[in-house]
Amino acid sequence: MKALVKREAAPGLWLEDRPQPQHGPNDVLIKVKKTAICGTDVHIYKWDDWAKATIPVPMIAGHEFVGEIVEVGANVNDYRPGMIVSGEGHIVCGRCRNCMAGRRHLCPQTKGVGVNRDGAFAEYIAIPNANVWHHARDIDLEMAAIFDPYGNATHTALQWDLLGEDVLITGAGPIGIMAAAIARHAGARHVVITDVNDYRLGLALKMGASRAVNVTREKIADVQKELGMSEGFDIGLEMSGNDDAFRDMLENMCHGGKISMLGIPPDNMGVDWRKIVFNMLTIKGIYGREIFETWYKMTVMLQSGLDLRPIITHRLHYTEYEAGFSAMLKGEAGKVILDWS
Ligand code: NAD
Ligand code: ZN
Repeated sequence: MKALVKREAAPGLWLEDRPQPQHGPNDVLIKVKKTAICGTDVHIYKWDDWAKATIPVPMIAGHEFVGEIVEVGANVNDYRPGMIVSGEGHIVCGRCRNCMAGRRHLCPQTKGVGVNRDGAFAEYIAIPNANVWHHARDIDLEMAAIFDPYGNATHTALQWDLLGEDVLITGAGPIGIMAAAIARHAGARHVVITDVNDYRLGLALKMGASRAVNVTREKIADVQKELGMSEGFDIGLEMSGNDDAFRDMLENMCHGGKISMLGIPPDNMGVDWRKIVFNMLTIKGIYGREIFETWYKMTVMLQSGLDLRPIITHRLHYTEYEAGFSAMLKGEAGKVILDWS
C-alpha cells in the first residue's frame, strides 16, 4: 500500500510502498478515505527537537482520519466491514486505575497513533477495536476526518459552562478557531480570539468569534472596554502554547475565572502566580479527548447546527501532500484534507 513515511531522521516525509498492516484478533482493519494534517504532523515533518526525541524511524505518520472497516479480528463482535469510522488516537493500557474506572483519557501509559506507532497517512490502518468510533450516518466525511482536533477543541471548551459567559481564546490555530465556533454554539456572550496571524483571525471571525485581536497591534484590555466588559473574561481557553499569550490571558481574567489549557508551551513557562492566587483562578490542563464522551458531544453538536465547514481550507490528493504541508508551514491554512480514495 501507499503510505507517507518518516523514512529517516531528517526533515520531510516520503511517499512509499509499505506492506498492508497485519491486524490482531482485537483489531479492525480500516481502508482510509480521508486524512487531515495536524500541527503534530508538521513537527514530525520539520523534524524538530520534540520529533527527534519522540518519533521512531521508520514510521507512518498521521492520526486524523476517517475510513471504512474492511476486516475485523476474531474477537471483534461490535464492528463490521462497511462501517464508516475514525480512530481515537490514544491507545491506552486498559489496566491502570484510571482505565479500569473508565477514565481512559487519564491513562498514564497512553501510546499515540502516528506518534509512537504507525499512523493513518496510508491506504490502510489497523487499530484496536476499543479505539474505534463508528460515525453517525449524517456526519459528513470531511468532518469525520477532523474529529481528532475537533475533539481537542471540544474537550477544552466544554470544561466549563459557557452559557452567557465571556470567553477569551488565545491562539487562532485550527483548534482555537473550532473552539470559538463551539463557544458560540454553547451560548457564550463574547468570544474574543487572539493571534499574531491575520489570515487565521479572519477565519475565526467567519466561524463565530465576536472579535479577533491581533496582539501585535491591539491590547486585549482595550477590547474588553470596547465590548463594555468591566470585570474580565469568565473563561479562558489557551490554544497557542505561547508564553506571552498565556500571561496576557492571566492579566485579562475576572476574579474566579476558569482556564482550560490545551496549548503546549515549548519550555518551563514563568507566570505571576500571585495573579492566580489573589484572583482565585482555576487552571485545568487538557490532553486529547475524553474517550468517548467528547466524541459523543462532537456528534450531537454537528447534528444540532454547529457548522465547522469553513475550517477546511485545502482539499488535496495524498500525492500532493507537499503542498498541504507547505500551506501549514506558512500558517496560511485551517485544516488541510488529503484524499486517499
Ligand atoms: P497552531 O500552532 O496551528 O496554532 C497556534 C496559534 O497560536 C498560531 O496560529 C499562532 O500564530 C498563535 N500564536 C502565536 N503566538 C501567539 C500570541 N502571542 N498570542 C496569540 N496567539 C499566538 O496549533 P493548533 O494545531 O491549533 O493547536 C493549538 C495548540 O494546542 C498547540 O500548542 C498544540 O501543540 C496544542 N495541542 C495540544 C493537544 C493536547 O492534547 N494537549 C492536542 C493538540 C494540540
Ligand atoms: Zn491505563
